[in-house]
Amino acid sequence: MIYTIKRANLLADQFRNFKTSHIHHLAGLCANLEFWIHEVEEAFNALDGYHERFLLLRAAQREWVERYDIKEYQFCRICGGRCEFDNGPVAPAPPRRTPSSELENARVELKDEAREFLMRCYQAGMLDEDSLREMCARIGTGVEYSELKY
Ligand SMILES: [Zn+2]
Repeated sequence: MIYTIKRANLLADQFRNFKTSHIHHLAGLCANLEFWIHEVEEAFNALDGYHERFLLLRAAQREWVERYDIKEYQFCRICGGRCEFDNGPVAPAPPRRTPSSELENARVELKDEAREFLMRCYQAGMLDEDSLREMCARIGTGVEYSELKY
């Protein structure tokens, strides 16, 4: 799994753990809300920039392989070594692009978990409605009227 997705998943796991934390722990976590929401924004930026970084990586790798005529040995599938059935040295395979669906899944999961954390802080009276709305907007989500306390 690529770094960008691991990073988003790690953060989503963190929010998942927060869900079952004691209320006094939640108060402590909520005090650092700005930090956590910023982490989400950065994780989103990393996901958004993946495609561009992949193109750079692939082009640089291809250029290097061509410039130095890099070859890799294809070992025999049967004995795992060099024998009369191996394919000889060939140019290395290009890097594999992570499907955008995997990036999108990581994004959605992180957004959902972060949102639940924000809602829990709000429900506990640690976050006012304006701040809740502002933070939800920053992570690309909103607040339903039915979720608010009036
Ligand atoms: Zn063999």
